[in-house]
Amino acid sequence: MRHARALAASEARSMMQKMEGGCHCGRVRFRVTADLDSVTNCNCPICTKKGILHLIVTPDNFELLKGKDDLITYTFNTGVAKHTFCRHCGIHPFYVPRSDPDKIDVNARCLDGVDLAKLRPKYFDGKHWEVAMQKSVPWR
Ligand SMILES: [Zn+2]
Repeated sequence: MRHARALAASEARSMMQKMEGGCHCGRVRFRVTADLDSVTNCNCPICTKKGILHLIVTPDNFELLKGKDDLITYTFNTGVAKHTFCRHCGIHPFYVPRSDPDKIDVNARCLDGVDLAKLRPKYFDGKHWEVAMQKSVPWR
């Protein structure tokens, strides 16, 4: 019985995997534990221009390995989202999202060795953010 429960728990976590990633120049590096099935594509203006593929995780599943002083932050509108990016190469490897300011939003494109062609991103209508947030969002 005890064994069966342990097995079920490990199966539930089976899609969670530990990955590393970073910016282009390598000054910013992070480690994340996440489920690539929860990658989301947002059509809002900044996500479209950044080309970000969202992977939203709790802080305990994210670790900044290096580059704290190499990050700078861009904010606009409500100022809730903290669009952090590497001040050397300009890449946005992760940021604090407006939808979940208590979490970290990793750019799946910045993960090491991820085959983007195999990802099946879910869709979020961030272009109509207020309306879309009233519905069930794909990452929760
Ligand atoms: Zn960089």
